[in-house]
Amino acid sequence: MASLNFNDIHTKKKQEKLREMMLNITSQLVKLENKNPYLDSCPICSSNKIQFFVNAYQFDISSCNDCGLLFCNPYPTSEQIHGYYNSEMKSFENQFFKDSFEKRIDIFIPRVKLIQKYKSRGKLLDVGSAIGIFIEALHRANANFNLSCCDISKEACKELAERYPNLEVFQNDFLEMKTSAQYDVITLWDTLEHIVDSKNLLCKTYQLLKNDGIFVFSTPNTDSFEWICAADKHVQILPPGHVNLMNWKCIDILLKNNSFRVIEAFTLNASLDLSYIKKLIKNSEIDPGSIGNFLWEEVFDPDFEKILEEYLIKKKKAGNIVVIAQKIPNQ
Ligand SMILES: [Zn+2]
Repeated sequence: MASLNFNDIHTKKKQEKLREMMLNITSQLVKLENKNPYLDSCPICSSNKIQFFVNAYQFDISSCNDCGLLFCNPYPTSEQIHGYYNSEMKSFENQFFKDSFEKRIDIFIPRVKLIQKYKSRGKLLDVGSAIGIFIEALHRANANFNLSCCDISKEACKELAERYPNLEVFQNDFLEMKTSAQYDVITLWDTLEHIVDSKNLLCKTYQLLKNDGIFVFSTPNTDSFEWICAADKHVQILPPGHVNLMNWKCIDILLKNNSFRVIEAFTLNASLDLSYIKKLIKNSEIDPGSIGNFLWEEVFDPDFEKILEEYLIKKKKAGNIVVIAQKIPNQ
């Protein structure tokens, strides 16, 4: 597979227009009443070492000094969240996802193969399917799964149901999804960061999995090269869409507390870290001090780039965490 480039996936025009629409929708959403409490302890590790991290799109983000969780504080209400996912901005964004559909398929084909290492058939539920890139990858790989999906967006669900007649579609907040089915595989590709109640999310996933079922997810890694450099200017600080941004420590705590055992875990797509950092340098969006003068120059050398990419993967410091976890059944 060819190296991925940040600008292939996020074109400049898209980024500018999207930011304008983001400012517009979020300025409307923050006017809605929010009675959620300001949290003075961490929703993942319960530490009370909480501090202000940044304000983005008029939402405050806090950080936990113990586990490193970054979270929207207070969390947005479900009204704000529904307003966000069913906004014009989201349709516009989905159009851009559609435009880069083929490039994104390349990201998901290896993920199908990854699942097939552990499960080659059975019932698979994909949570947060959006425009269905993973569903399409499963079809192209002729994967032998009975497919269901769940997404909060009406528009996305309507299109998925039309495109894949055999797909069972739940247009729901996952935590409110009702089914008596039990699944062999539950996938959440870049969805964990969008869900307010991580504990309930893991609890729901646990309930819906068969005893030997696997839970497969990816989420941004805040303990990565791109995050450490970009810090509070990172493009993934995107409330009220992204409400929980994690690192390995947060994920370990979350899985252990909810009876999951990690069977494989790694980070992916270090080339995206590198192309994103290069974009920030070119646009003077980050301070050279944050990555050092050496890296400043060397990151443009293709040899160094290749080595750094391998290094980030080896050290699990690339920007996207992938985890395959197994349910530990109740004794
Ligand atoms: Zn914490």
